[in-house]
Amino acid sequence: MNKTYNENGKNGAQICSVFKKCGGCQYQGMSYKEQLKKKEREVQGLLKPFGKVKPILGMEEPYYYRNKVHAVFGRERNGNIISGTYQAGTHKIVNIDECMIEDRKSGEIIRTIRSLLKSFRIRTYDEDTGYGLLRHVMVRRGFSSGQIMVVLVVSSPIFPSKNNFVKALRKEHPEITTVVLNINDKKTSMVLGERDIVLYGKGYIEDTLCGCVFRISPQSFYQVNSVQTEVLYGKAIEYAGLTGKERVIDAYCGIGTIGLIASGQAKEVIGIELNKDAIRDARTNARRNGITNMTFINADAGKCMVSMAQAGERADVVFMDPPRAGSDEAFLSSVVTLNPEKVVYVSCNPETLARDLKYLTGHGYRVQEMQPVDMFCWCEHVETVCLLSNRKPDTKVRIDVDLEDYYRIKDSKKNQN
Ligand code: SAH
Repeated sequence: MNKTYNENGKNGAQICSVFKKCGGCQYQGMSYKEQLKKKEREVQGLLKPFGKVKPILGMEEPYYYRNKVHAVFGRERNGNIISGTYQAGTHKIVNIDECMIEDRKSGEIIRTIRSLLKSFRIRTYDEDTGYGLLRHVMVRRGFSSGQIMVVLVVSSPIFPSKNNFVKALRKEHPEITTVVLNINDKKTSMVLGERDIVLYGKGYIEDTLCGCVFRISPQSFYQVNSVQTEVLYGKAIEYAGLTGKERVIDAYCGIGTIGLIASGQAKEVIGIELNKDAIRDARTNARRNGITNMTFINADAGKCMVSMAQAGERADVVFMDPPRAGSDEAFLSSVVTLNPEKVVYVSCNPETLARDLKYLTGHGYRVQEMQPVDMFCWCEHVETVCLLSNRKPDTKVRIDVDLEDYYRIKDSKKNQN
């Protein structure tokens, strides 16, 4: 691989030796500037009908940004152990030795695990036959804390010489703070199974984002690009324009990030999240940060909002950060019933954002501004934060203009007299 990563990408210069097979970085061969332009055009195309789209916010150093690195393990015909990613659209494993978007230390740890397997006689899992033990490895590294969690995804809880294995791994990488065994014994394309067994350390890592400390468990969602997440959350909270008096809903809250960061500027925050591990982390995060004005509900966001709307509850601001599929009508119609003054929509898919904006703007909301943020450099995904408000923004302006007109006419009449 070319270590200097040709910035210009002239003539479609190949940058990563496996990019075609891996398929993870769709924008390889394109300069970073071009990538940003392309994303900006895409967002403009989809969202311009709703309002103003600001220029995309890109990264200064768009490399090694992924704080979560995942590798699938397998064997070549000749018995060589390989680890990397599935070739796009197949279940063939592409071996990866270096990746320009993944955290470097995490990549090194995965390759150390690869080299240890043989001496520990640990077999990699074979999807077709169901034999073998090690399926995947996931490494998460706290961007500011530096804490490292290694998750070994295995097909059975019986992991031979597990203590010695952890010892050997930590000898090579003493910076690892926790090692977890995740049991996935199902024939599934999901990476993680339901059961976690802590082999070393606390079973989770902590990281600081926008001044708050967050606990991250193997199963919880945590944005993969920490540098840009601070930019994104900063914008979302700025859009909310909180004064300390508001009742805020943080829907699809994950481990509570947005709501907890915003809680210092609000009266009360309610977080809603479906994943029970994420909710457990969120509650711990509130305590860990001494936050007492945020509560969490473990429920489907749509159903929960419907019952809040039926109970006649109110909210001043709704943050919503749904998965790629976007929100649903139950949720959106309840937003309309709850009638918050502002909705701050954080989206990782401009297509579903456009669909949901169509609903909200068809029911009294207006888009004030949209800000794309590049969270996934070299990849086609694009994140956008959008501010909607239900005030009729022109009303006040019109009154001002009317008054100004009134005085102008009055003054001009006075001058005429
Ligand atoms: N706001 C958080 C998480 C965003 S990811 C952050 O920035 O870190 C989207 C989250 O929505 C995930 O945590 C996922 O578990 C959750 N989720 C998915 N479907 C949901 C649903 N129907 N109701 C509530 N939460 C849901």
